[in-house]
Amino acid sequence: MMCRLPVIAVLVLHASHGAVLAADLGGVVVKLDDYAGPATVSAQLVEPFKVQLAVNPVGETKPLRIRVELPESGPRAWAAADVEVRDTQDKAMMVRRAGIEWSKLLIPVPAVPASYFVHAVQPPGEKPSLPSEKERVLVDGATGLRLGIAKWRDGRKAALSIRFDDSHPTHLTKAIPILREYGFRGTFMVNPGASQPGYRRRSAFETQRAEWEAVARKGDHELANHSAHHRGAVGDDDMEAEIGGAAQVIWKLTLGRSKLMALNLGGGTHWETTRTLRYYLDKYHQFETSGSLGMDDVYGNRVAAFRRALEQHLERGLWCRIHYHYIGDGLSSSEANFRAALDVAKEHQSKLWIAGMADIHKYQTERNASKLALQQSGPKRLTFQLTCLADATLYDQPLTIEVLVAQSVDASRLVVKDNGGKTVPSRAAHVNGVSALRFNVAPRNALYSIEMTP
Ligand SMILES: [Zn+2]
Repeated sequence: MMCRLPVIAVLVLHASHGAVLAADLGGVVVKLDDYAGPATVSAQLVEPFKVQLAVNPVGETKPLRIRVELPESGPRAWAAADVEVRDTQDKAMMVRRAGIEWSKLLIPVPAVPASYFVHAVQPPGEKPSLPSEKERVLVDGATGLRLGIAKWRDGRKAALSIRFDDSHPTHLTKAIPILREYGFRGTFMVNPGASQPGYRRRSAFETQRAEWEAVARKGDHELANHSAHHRGAVGDDDMEAEIGGAAQVIWKLTLGRSKLMALNLGGGTHWETTRTLRYYLDKYHQFETSGSLGMDDVYGNRVAAFRRALEQHLERGLWCRIHYHYIGDGLSSSEANFRAALDVAKEHQSKLWIAGMADIHKYQTERNASKLALQQSGPKRLTFQLTCLADATLYDQPLTIEVLVAQSVDASRLVVKDNGGKTVPSRAAHVNGVSALRFNVAPRNALYSIEMTP
């Protein structure tokens, strides 16, 4: 059940049977799928992120399938997770998608003249407006201190997540022991569903449940959702069972911890639902991140490709994501190549935050939802308020506050205290040659003070 990336197809729409290209669909491609008969589909952008489809069967009697491809990047990109399709009676239509290509829709329709609307739904609930980047910086003249929320934990330049798919036995025998040698945290996308009648194979996770439980207990690696059985889903109930069922098994193994986890539906799978992906993400506290460098040896020169990707992400201060399947000689990644890539990460370790996907997603989300405000300041003491709008039940990754110190100030004499007067551990650092101080705080609304000790 290895999920290989499909060959990336270049999206060029040629006028062909069943295809009608309207004036400007904002980059959306619409055509009849796998069809060479007389029927046609036309499309019209009726408002931003809402396309009307009109089927004209022209004598066709067999059911048709409309293929809709939404742009994934650029200013006209659609939020694919928020997209659904409705008919003119406002009934949600069943839509089929591939697990890792949610922006490509296949809509089965009868061969009758009819209209349908493909549109991005505004997620429910009022979105709080997030603080600006400027509000995460605080400059105080009285103390000569400049505070900011570090882009990444501990002031690292970029983040790296190392993902493993399919709960393969070599994750327990190879990947985890080797990661532990390096002291790196991995994210393990598991398929924890129980064996089902009609499926010959017993799930690897079920066979090695005790070992996976031990990994979860130890907590040095992250478990994430790769769906219950890696077989896709047919219908809304099956979607719930595959996404929600897997989430529930993982929650049970990580009782008392945040329920937030990464979701990847797996390559080679198909999913049919009338609902948006957002519905399932929100209901089960999942998040989805696309874009990851596949590290299977079959792609060739993986270590060099990883080095290049990592250096680019370091330069731009971004989150670098890579993923593996099976580790071992003769398997998707040889042990030697796996170790060589980890050696590259190790080389850059001082500038890199190597963490689980949920850790990184949490930090990013919390930081975007946070701001700093000056409460009080004098020559010897500064008090500031941290405000964080992220949901405290899910978001628990500490944030790093960075304090740049003017040359006239002796950084070693600064002490950070919480509102109860308790000292917050801090570490001296240098940021672009300027002396600095870093400390971690919970992503919660709170007051802190920085004092100059005699
Ligand atoms: Zn997979």
